[in-house]
This record gives sequence, structure tokens and C-alpha cells, in this order.
Amino acid sequence: MRLLFAEDDRVSRRRLAAVLRKWGYEVIEVQDGNQAWEVLLTAAAPQLAILDWMMPGMDGPEVCRRVRQLRREPYIYVLLLTAKAQKEDVVAGLESGADDYLTKPVDIHELQVRLRAGRRILELQEKLIVMREELRMQATRDALTGLWNRAAIFDLLRRETARAQRGEIPLSIAMADVDHFKRVNDVYGHLIGDIVLQEVARRVQAALRPYDEVGRYGGEELLLIFPQCNAQQAVHVAERLRRRVAATPIVTPEGEIVVTLSVGVAPYGGGADAQMLLRAADEALYRAKQQGRNCVVLYPGPQLPAEAAAL
Ligand SMILES: [Mg+2]
Repeated sequence: MRLLFAEDDRVSRRRLAAVLRKWGYEVIEVQDGNQAWEVLLTAAAPQLAILDWMMPGMDGPEVCRRVRQLRREPYIYVLLLTAKAQKEDVVAGLESGADDYLTKPVDIHELQVRLRAGRRILELQEKLIVMREELRMQATRDALTGLWNRAAIFDLLRRETARAQRGEIPLSIAMADVDHFKRVNDVYGHLIGDIVLQEVARRVQAALRPYDEVGRYGGEELLLIFPQCNAQQAVHVAERLRRRVAATPIVTPEGEIVVTLSVGVAPYGGGADAQMLLRAADEALYRAKQQGRNCVVLYPGPQLPAEAAAL
């Protein structure tokens, strides 16, 4: 494991660094606080740091304060070395964000134990980060399709609608629904239905532009957000993904299944909020179903549905 060791006293630095290397640490030696700060600023900074308190330039606590201000991950575990054993000094050192301290002259055995404790905390923290990222994934992604889940896509919709309201960008959205999906489930069973949904999701994603967003809004219903798209551009993208889904049958263990999408597109209109936009896209989707499915319909009115305002 890599370790930064900052100590201005050359003799004790060399002595301790030799011990640390013997224990298997890869030691980066520096002789003042400024050098320590430079090392800790780099992207590949070691996660363990032993900082002498009194050093030319920045002292140990100051380096530590700055490191903590970066709020960086992974966490850097800081051990302060101090000749001052008075209690109030120790408190000040720990208030700088140091994790632990040792008084000089350093007891080698004690150092070994303290470093072990530090490593354990780093390992725990690493596990927590992994778990947090997994939870974040689970909280925002639809487990079946990997698309945004309903809550996440709705958050994105609210954010994009707010940007459109501020006049920053044009915006359109679309509701897409797999035609006769119930029939797929009834005829082939839900496992095959799941395979179909996964493949539809994959094809839709492949047809989108990088800044478009798509989420699973309901069972077989997708909500799409097209930032920077006026009505015509949105219809164009929607038409592309409709064709992409319909182009070739989906291969499943029960045979090839032809799947199509109906899509309703709604452009943002002055003053609309997320609910009004959704309502308009839903209305357009309903018309696409009425017109025989496997088609894209643009919300017809220049105004968004008035009744939506009451929602
Ligand atoms: Mg010193």
C-alpha cells in the first residue's frame, strides 16, 4: 500500500521510512508541508498519510484541513505526528480533520497498530462506496431493462421542464407503448414478455441521441425526453426508434416475435409543467393507438390540454 510520509527532520524521516518499507508500504517521502500538499492533490494520491505537525511551509494540520476541504473520494487517512502532547494541541490537530495522532518519539509498535487501524477504516470505506453505488443503481434503474425507473425519469422530466420554462432550451417528450404487449404475455408467458421488453429497451436506446433520456414509465410504457428538440425533430427521433423496433422480429426461445411501438410526441409549450406535458404525450399516444398502432403521432393542439392544469 502506498503511503505519504512528510517529515522535515531528515534523520527521523529516513529511520521511520525504512521501517515502513520493511512493513511493505510503498513510501513517498517529502520534507515539508507544501510538498505533502502537492502529492495529496494529485489524482493518484496515496490513501494513507503520516504528517509531521511542525514543518516548514504548511504545518501538518493545515495540510490536513486542505485535504478535507477537497472532500475527495477515496478518503485519505491522516495520522499526525506531534511532539506536543498537551491535550488542547491534540484536539486542535484532530479538528483539522486528522484521523489519529502519535506523539514523538514514535513508538514503532504503536505506529504499526495505528496504521493497521487506518487501513481497516479505508477498507470499510471502500466497501461502503461500492454498496452506495449499487444502491444508487438500484434506486434509479429499472431492474428488468436497465432504463431509468419511473421515479428517476420523472425527476429528469421535472428538471428538463424547469429548464424549458426558464427559456434555456426547447424540449419535447414522448410516450411509447409496446403494441398488444398483453398478447405476448398471454401467448408466450411472462418470461418471454420480459425478453421482449429488454430487447425493445435496447433498440430504443440505440436509436436515441446521447443526451436523450428514456425510462420505463409503466409495464410496457416508456417515457422519452428529448432536450433541445422542437416538435419536428422529436417526431423524427421517435420515428427512427419506432422503425428500429419494428424492423426485425425479436428472437426469443419461443421463436421470433414481431413487436411494434405506438408513440405520442408532445413538444413543450409556453408555461407547461411536467404533468401537462405528460398529459399531452399520453393524449397523442392514445391517438396513435386509435390510428392503428405502429405509428408516431404529434400532439395536435397548439395548446396543451387545459384540464391538465388542474392536476
Ligand atoms: Mg518537524
